[in-house]
Amino acid sequence: MTNLLNKEIDTVNLPDSKGYFGEYGGSFVPEALQKVMDEVAAKYEEISQDPAFVQELADLNAHYTGRPSPVTFAKNLSDAVGGAKIYLKREDLNHTGAHKINHCLGEVLLAKRMGKKKVIAETGAGQHGVALATAAALMGLECDIYMGEIDVMKEAPNVSRMKILGAKVIPVKTGTRTLKDAVDEAFKAYLKDPVTQIYCIGSVVGPHPFPMMVRDFQAVIGIEARRQMLEMTGRLPDNIVACVGGGSNAMGMFSAFLDDKDVKLYGVEPAGMGLETGAHAASITKGSKGIMHGFKTIMIQDDKGEPLPVYSIASGLDYPGSGPQHCYLHDIKRVTYTTITDREAVEAFYALSRMEGIIPALESSHAVAYAVKLAEQLDKDQTILVNLSGRGDKDIDVYYKKDH
Ligand SMILES: *Cc1c(COP(=O)(O)O)cnc(C)c1O
Repeated sequence: MTNLLNKEIDTVNLPDSKGYFGEYGGSFVPEALQKVMDEVAAKYEEISQDPAFVQELADLNAHYTGRPSPVTFAKNLSDAVGGAKIYLKREDLNHTGAHKINHCLGEVLLAKRMGKKKVIAETGAGQHGVALATAAALMGLECDIYMGEIDVMKEAPNVSRMKILGAKVIPVKTGTRTLKDAVDEAFKAYLKDPVTQIYCIGSVVGPHPFPMMVRDFQAVIGIEARRQMLEMTGRLPDNIVACVGGGSNAMGMFSAFLDDKDVKLYGVEPAGMGLETGAHAASITKGSKGIMHGFKTIMIQDDKGEPLPVYSIASGLDYPGSGPQHCYLHDIKRVTYTTITDREAVEAFYALSRMEGIIPALESSHAVAYAVKLAEQLDKDQTILVNLSGRGDKDIDVYYKKDH
């Protein structure tokens, strides 16, 4: 039987049956949770081969999210840079304004097929929480979102959105009262009742099968973009750039091009205030091998192997590890991982806003900033495709903070 969700992408047959991409990934969870993960993996295998499920998801993508998202040639920006032509895959135009809805719809459909009544998740800045609350509202499931008390205060608009959508936001008062503790609390809640509820992870991270499953739900980005670039330019893009937090938008884009050896792939990590300052979240660039949140990764850690607090101006990128497939693609040198600072991202945020009339998310601005650097070094006949993972409406208070 074939997985109908990823049959068009280049998975290099990964992960293996235990969820390993090379030495990364796997499942490092308590025994009770392992049973639950095995059930999720088995159900995912079943539905990914079921044409009715795949069609239901495709219909939602088309008629709810608004897929396919267009590809836009950023002519003004390209002309201003004077090098390679820059194209944008417009995930910012999806319903809810980013790529996260792609995997949330998949996960919530899976939850329904498993007979679950409730979806639960952690959220940092609230982007995953909002996307999941949206999908849960549509599908008539309850939704509990665990969020550090500090983040609840910092991200008030997203907390309101989740509540309007009918989700319950549970403030986590333990530890640092941020994302890390929210993850712990959500897992605890999951263990208490793995029968009626299911944990929906927000990126290509966590124990098997999530890195594979979230990638497959996001693969629609790359599958569409490949076709669109062929239609628009008559050939594949020479370069592709995407930002990497956990890595879901990048994996969704890269997956369709892994076997196209002439297409150069770039993953952009957040250098925050500068790699030398320590205030960054460039886990692949600066981290080391370790285990966190149930999987083996390359991570920013202390000498006890605990994830350290990380920082980026783009809250969606401040995660101390990266998806296991990214770690593997780094080791085999198929993808080049590079970094962009806060300052460079904010510059790109303004450049795209003012030259193209597109306000990008600060996360996506990291990819735009690197694309501009790359374009400067290349000839006009070269192309760069940027995955514009989301829109920047959520980031407009940067305008006041940065005093422009
Ligand atoms: C959450 C988010 C990201 C980072 O998540 P990935 O899993 O690395 O894609 C990037 N861009 C936007 C707009 C986001 O909301």
